[in-house]
Amino acid sequence: MNIILFGPPGAGKGTQGSLLEERYDLVRLSTGELLREAARNGTALGLQARVFMDAGELVPDAVILGMVGEVMHARGNRGGFIFDGFPRTGAQALALDAMAREMGSPIDAVLVLTVDDEELVRRLSGRLYCPNCGRIFQRYSDPPAKEGTCDTCGHALDQREDDREDTVRRRLDVYREQTAPVLQKFEKLGVPIHHIDGDRSVDDVNASLTAILG
Ligand code: AMP
Repeated sequence: MNIILFGPPGAGKGTQGSLLEERYDLVRLSTGELLREAARNGTALGLQARVFMDAGELVPDAVILGMVGEVMHARGNRGGFIFDGFPRTGAQALALDAMAREMGSPIDAVLVLTVDDEELVRRLSGRLYCPNCGRIFQRYSDPPAKEGTCDTCGHALDQREDDREDTVRRRLDVYREQTAPVLQKFEKLGVPIHHIDGDRSVDDVNASLTAILG
């Protein structure tokens, strides 16, 4: 089974993708996480990508497709993927469809998480992460016990450069202009598309997703 988790930044794709990954025997492939790891490691690809990411713009298709192709071919036909934050352009969607068919496991469904823009701004601009263990906190709804400190490992929390409010607003524009229209490509390809209200508790959203996937 191959699934695409679709939706604007902050809609909960990462959280839900991790839960689905545990429940079904799938690998979550988050292009955002792969890019951040490459940037942390200081690779040429990572440093090139970082300029686009910090500005809230999309990283060029060739960079993304090279990276995704490598991961997909390394895993081969052993189980499927949950694509998180990919594809984000029409060219990426067509390339993914071709790669998945070539590997004999086409895309089964696109699950779209929908959340209002103002709620997304609130969620993203309040998001804090631990650079040491990766745990995510939410300043308003899920704050750490001690301000600015990770509950798990005690490291100081940080904010992603692209979670600053002006960059968040740019990322939402980019989603609307360049990524949302990608759904029409999947419609044309005949891939089932499901819309899920993402403005609910993590458990409720997860229940809707698992009801769809069966
Ligand atoms: P995310 O963590 O999915 O919100 O991604 C963070 C940033 O990485 C995005 O704002 C883009 O700059 C870049 N990025 C992640 N995935 C893609 C993609 N599929 N295509 C282009 N840029 C991407």
